[in-house]
Amino acid sequence: MISEAMLKLGTTRSCIRELFEYGNQQAAIVGRENVYDYSLGNPSIPAPAQVKASINAILDEVNSLSIHGYTSAPGALDARKAVADDLNARFDTSIRPENIFLSCGAAPALISVIRALAVEDAEILAIAPFFPEYRPFVENNGCKFVVVPADTQQFQIRMDKLEEAINSHTQAVIVNSPNNPSGVVYTKETLVSLANVLTRKAKEFGHPIYIIADEPYRELAYDGVEVSFIPSIYPDTVICYSWSKSLSLPGERIGYVCVPDQVTDSAQLFAAVCGAARIIGHVCAPSLQQLTVARCVSLRPDVEAYDRNRKTLYDALTSYGYECAKPKGAFYMFVKAPGGNAQAFSDRAKEKNLLIVPGGDFGCPDFFRISTSVDHGMILRSLPVFEELIKTQV
Ligand code: PLP
Repeated sequence: MISEAMLKLGTTRSCIRELFEYGNQQAAIVGRENVYDYSLGNPSIPAPAQVKASINAILDEVNSLSIHGYTSAPGALDARKAVADDLNARFDTSIRPENIFLSCGAAPALISVIRALAVEDAEILAIAPFFPEYRPFVENNGCKFVVVPADTQQFQIRMDKLEEAINSHTQAVIVNSPNNPSGVVYTKETLVSLANVLTRKAKEFGHPIYIIADEPYRELAYDGVEVSFIPSIYPDTVICYSWSKSLSLPGERIGYVCVPDQVTDSAQLFAAVCGAARIIGHVCAPSLQQLTVARCVSLRPDVEAYDRNRKTLYDALTSYGYECAKPKGAFYMFVKAPGGNAQAFSDRAKEKNLLIVPGGDFGCPDFFRISTSVDHGMILRSLPVFEELIKTQV
């Protein structure tokens, strides 16, 4: 017998993947240049040159048994130390290498933390709009998935709704800023209010309510906006980071979980994360990538190309009449669907080979997401289609 739940997950594609595959089929028919694919969040700028240089140097300098061998389960101590040192230098923290678990990207980092918190009746909150994979991550790892409805004006956090969603079973809130899909960066005021609510509720229920800070986009911010370091605002914060977007390395599967000492029950939580990683089978992240990020940990991406895409799309779409909170980070825009039904609007766009993701799976069915990590030429070719679609919307 086969697990029904896993069978279902394995046989249904996300609507992002559906659109992406459709785009590939259409490209074979109408030509790649006539498909405007805004579906996937795959980085469109190459990894910095120093990444390749570091990999070459490692291949030359380090003996091949260490490059390709197993490391310790949570990662090589030197690499974990490089990550801790970088965080301490940037955020004035006292993180130790022993607080860092190197993971195969943000996804298994998140799953390990969720799994580590999966006590009986555990609930994990996500704030709409949210990365759709949170739902299967939470629901298939022993917790109830609870959605905090969106602030559809600014895409900050509706504290009244957050407070309503918390109860004695709430174990954690997933916070993703800069946000996928809105591109919004939570302000410091938002995060301070969030911290106040969680502190009050944790006291009321007599147990910690953790923030799981999902931070693959931490380094992607524009207009000089500040991306607050959440552990400095709320001590009970566990970080899930990844170099998938910041260094354009999604295929290398490298990231980390950081459980600082200031977190309540830090040592036990870290050990439980290690235990969860063990049963998921993602201990010992790729050794070559551990060595690479240790050498590249202080590199920051050149976001100029994403910024140009963001400005071009935001200016053009709002001039046609689309409504959208201005993105200040990540590489997405979350746009209100003309007519109010994003699935219907996305279907109309699809007929013109414009692939935009309806927001239902992100918890906002009236909005669609476009990924701005795309080719600038494609953006320019697609603008007349965006304009025609809104003009012809009845
Ligand atoms: N969290 C968010 C918000 C994401 O957008 C993604 C990937 O797109 C992930 C987590 C997973 O990242 P990774 O590739 O590091 O597993």
